[in-house]
Amino acid sequence: MNSSSFAATTRPRIAVSACLLGEAVRYDATDKRDAFVGDQLGECVELIGVCPEFELGMGAPRETIEIVDRDGELLLLGVESGVDHTVAMREFAERRVGQLLRAGVDGFVLKKRSPSCGVRGVPVLREGDRVEEGVGRFAAAVAELAPELPVADEAELAAPGRDDFLTAAFAGHRWRQFVSSPNHPGWRDLADFHALESSLLLACDERRAVELTRIVDGAAEKRQPLGPLVLEEYCRTFRRAVRRPISLLDHQRALTQLLGHLRSDSARQAANRIVQQMCAGIVCVESAKDSVLALLRDMTERSPSSPQVAVPHTKRAAARSSCGRSRRSLESNQGTPASSTPQVAVGQSYWRPFPPGLASDSGPGAPGG
Ligand code: SF4
Repeated sequence: MNSSSFAATTRPRIAVSACLLGEAVRYDATDKRDAFVGDQLGECVELIGVCPEFELGMGAPRETIEIVDRDGELLLLGVESGVDHTVAMREFAERRVGQLLRAGVDGFVLKKRSPSCGVRGVPVLREGDRVEEGVGRFAAAVAELAPELPVADEAELAAPGRDDFLTAAFAGHRWRQFVSSPNHPGWRDLADFHALESSLLLACDERRAVELTRIVDGAAEKRQPLGPLVLEEYCRTFRRAVRRPISLLDHQRALTQLLGHLRSDSARQAANRIVQQMCAGIVCVESAKDSVLALLRDMTERSPSSPQVAVPHTKRAAARSSCGRSRRSLESNQGTPASSTPQVAVGQSYWRPFPPGLASDSGPGAPGG
């Protein structure tokens, strides 16, 4: 993916198996409309329907197809006729996925178990036995050509895994907005973007958060316009970082590091108690995050025009934050005398990575809802 040629869109763009959107494109000319995808998700993102089999010209209704493992080669064959669609599907998938990437998609939601769209657990015929371990042929092309983008099936979106998918897709869209801004972003802009995402990165992938800080610092040291290679390296690493599911331990680590911003012992003790309760399952992650955020807000100046929280960037806080170095080095590189209370952003992205109404534990689209 070329990070500097993304299409600009006001909302995240998600490519979706068309049958999940209610289009009657299945083999029996029916659909598999998914209420969460079609209604709730569709209100917050731009959905692009894609049906590999229909768009390939197979029509609806059509013969069903299956994946057959023949001496290690995975073929896509008509169940009755044995017609081989393998090459046609591969060529179509490469073309269509390329188109979708150029259109700036931030993720894929694909129909489970389909020999074309299934992300995992797709039946494969091997030596007369059916084993559920395959990947649909279109989905395989997505994984190969867009390894940085989040991909989920509709079942995963009906489970807590939904939050990880949405976190990655919305973060990818924020990046796309950043690089497609009419004013070519400079290294100061990149540092600001990085600061806003720093808390989320810390929670998602601490190792890559450090790598990203190194990229930003390298760009700042050169003090030259940002080249495409820097943007591409940042983009690739950023997207891979935010794709990583956030575990309870990750939240604990991120929140504990953020507590370093609290100057009062009593506030820190209160926040520590909340984090312990979260680890013990007494309070949910979102409540714990909200409580810690409230404590951080209590001791910060908050800009009414921005949802982000800015906290004084103390040396101690910087030392505790894996992402803290970049802003410091930028300040010194700019020759700006460090003020007594330089600001570091505790980015909004960690506290509200996507619209709360989409969360797996909210509303009628919640599992079992
Ligand atoms: S699963 Fe994929 S190929 Fe099958 S009908 Fe749905 S969109 Fe089309």
